[in-house]
Amino acid sequence: MGLGWGQTYDLLLKGGHVLDPANSIDGVLDVAVTGGKIARVAAGIDPVRAKKVIAAGGLYVTPGLIDLHAHVCGYGGAIFPDDTALVAGTTTVVDAGGAGWRSFEDCKARVIDTSQTRVLALLNIAGRGMIGSASEDDVAGMDPVKTAAKIKQYPDIIVGIKVAHFGLPGWEALRRAVEAGRLANVPAMVDDKIFTNSGRTSREKLLDVMRPGDLHTHMYNDRQVEIVSRFTGKVQPYALEARRRGVLFDLGHGAGSFLWPVATQAMRQGFVPDTISTDLHSSSVMMQQSDMPNCIS
Ligand SMILES: [Zn+2]
Repeated sequence: MGLGWGQTYDLLLKGGHVLDPANSIDGVLDVAVTGGKIARVAAGIDPVRAKKVIAAGGLYVTPGLIDLHAHVCGYGGAIFPDDTALVAGTTTVVDAGGAGWRSFEDCKARVIDTSQTRVLALLNIAGRGMIGSASEDDVAGMDPVKTAAKIKQYPDIIVGIKVAHFGLPGWEALRRAVEAGRLANVPAMVDDKIFTNSGRTSREKLLDVMRPGDLHTHMYNDRQVEIVSRFTGKVQPYALEARRRGVLFDLGHGAGSFLWPVATQAMRQGFVPDTISTDLHSSSVMMQQSDMPNCIS
């Protein structure tokens, strides 16, 4: 930007621990801002050159956080993102399946196009989105071709597919989500239940149905995926194998999807998340306060 002597920065964040993976920065540095853009990142920037100085010692300074699993559309517990994301340092949220191919335009008009927070979306394989079992158990409403077509219509906004809360036996919802993902060349985020009466197992899901690059969210709850054996307390061999073949594991904290016993045992054995996300919705924000800084902590 080439500010000469005598010129000033609008803002100087002084002495924070800057974490910026995209630029391989991990250390105590100053960050100067001018005209709403980062002007300089360096050690020892003179505070007299800044109109406003914020002491950031003992704090982390990061680019805007990306929340990979949030609910800002469609779903009854969705929250308009500007109310909770920006104050927690989250500048991009990914709506996890609030809308399907039938309801996406409404989500776009009402939330994506109007929020200050950047909103991306995972399109629900259920055509009417996350409005309960009438939609999410309606296999006939899960159309991989129409889902893929909607994704291709908005490639800068729709970044993948979501399949969730499927309450019937078998794998049809997940299979259709994966098929839509194949057609549109995007990943699928999965949280399907593994209740014993569903005829589904975590092993089969992770190794036989999910593709490399697909994500399992709610990784530390044990209703939807059993990463840690309930009998031995050990990370399941098939979870390690799934990770080796490229299946990703997302935190998705939520209001009931983070169990300390599972998280503690998994992390002690080195099974950490690939991505950290909040599963932001009205209950998780009001009760668990699972914003991004809290989940990262
Ligand atoms: Zn969710």
